[in-house]
Amino acid sequence: MSDYKSPETRILPEITDESRAFWTGGERGELLIYKCLDCQGLIHPPAPACYHCQSINVAPRPVSGRATVAAKTINVHSFNPAMPSPFSVAIVELEEDSSTRLTTNVIGCPPESVQIGMKVQVEFEHYEDVWVPVFRPVAS
Ligand SMILES: [Zn+2]
Repeated sequence: MSDYKSPETRILPEITDESRAFWTGGERGELLIYKCLDCQGLIHPPAPACYHCQSINVAPRPVSGRATVAAKTINVHSFNPAMPSPFSVAIVELEEDSSTRLTTNVIGCPPESVQIGMKVQVEFEHYEDVWVPVFRPVAS
């Protein structure tokens, strides 16, 4: 078992109309990513128009939450006493579309054990009115 504990708090995002679904879908356990309802392309960060086909017929839709680590680093500087370092910072590619990438934290394992290509699954850390998507390695 990991000794990972959620930080007591973190610097929270400013929620906009477009980003609200992304930051609050975790309340229902859903990772919500904007999707173009015309060309089916995923759009992240959320935007009012599709950058694949320019359609404005876009809306947040749940994705599986499964992803693969594409890049990683370890933060060793303590920016926030409530979020002890070292911790992992990673870019993950969504299973549905590897060009849709999220910058996140990989939790539940030592930061030095995070590897490119590692399969991960979303979880959410709840602070105030925000559910921050983080990712945990999938047991192989
Ligand atoms: Zn489109």
